Amino acid sequence: MEIHLAHTQGFCAGVSSAVEAVNRALAKYGAPLYVRHHIVHNTSVIADFEKKGVVFIEALSDVPEGGRVIFSAHGISPQVYEEAKARELVYIDATCPLVTKVHREAITFSQKEIQTVLIGHRGHQELIGTSGYVRPDLLHVVETEEDIEALKLDRARPVGYLTQTTLSVTETAKLIAKLKEIYPHSVGPPKEDICFATQNRQDAVMTLTQTCDVVIICGSPQSSNSNRLKETALGQGIESYIIDMPEELQFAWLDGKKRVGISSGASVPRHIVDALVAKIKMIDPNAPVFESESVEKGISFAIPKV
Ligand code: SF4
Repeated sequence: MEIHLAHTQGFCAGVSSAVEAVNRALAKYGAPLYVRHHIVHNTSVIADFEKKGVVFIEALSDVPEGGRVIFSAHGISPQVYEEAKARELVYIDATCPLVTKVHREAITFSQKEIQTVLIGHRGHQELIGTSGYVRPDLLHVVETEEDIEALKLDRARPVGYLTQTTLSVTETAKLIAKLKEIYPHSVGPPKEDICFATQNRQDAVMTLTQTCDVVIICGSPQSSNSNRLKETALGQGIESYIIDMPEELQFAWLDGKKRVGISSGASVPRHIVDALVAKIKMIDPNAPVFESESVEKGISFAIPKV
């Protein structure tokens, strides 16, 4: 058996920067350290931080008056900043700069009175945050082609679309095509909202599907970009599974397989992938592991000031 690793392993720049902000804040201020929402969507990262005294909360009311709180990489709505200021909380903002870019686009659209179709997963933290930057009367959240068909936009007024950063590139292109079919004058953001990390990871899985007969994705159930990787492989007709922890691997998935591909979401620590490789090697200790240099080597974002 051969093991092929996708050329995008480890944290993306946004996750790396958010995780480092929590580490630095822990070192500087100690526990308990409050973080609003899971800093990134990965079970292992969250469990490690909880052991060190990080307290993950959803409502700012759970932070003591005048306390310190970190906002997660997924971004927050303006209302949350207002609430933090009103309660005199000291906050550290770990929102990924690429999510902030979408927030800015949303503000611009609303300033121009553009009816804004926001494509994404309802209930996802990033979508909730971005929605807050769109004027409520201009906001239309869609997830499926049916949602787009059901829209009743004013054709005499401008229409624009924005997307969550971690969507399927292929599926989103279909949704945008559908929107433009019904509302041909729709305009997009100046630059693609799906981020480079999401695009790179989906490209890497596409590459794996050309040679591998099964693709295992490391990623947590709530991680949008990880789930899209499994769908990418399945969409190419290749068997694919997603696991949160290496122990979830079922050896039966590898029965009769010659080439196993492994990829991981943007918030998955490298040690999870290494542990999965070690587990697969329990079946075939001599299985060669093929890995090429990451296409994201050298890309980093500034660490939020703590
Ligand atoms: S997946 Fe993209 S948007 Fe999300 S943290 Fe990483 S770089 Fe930022």
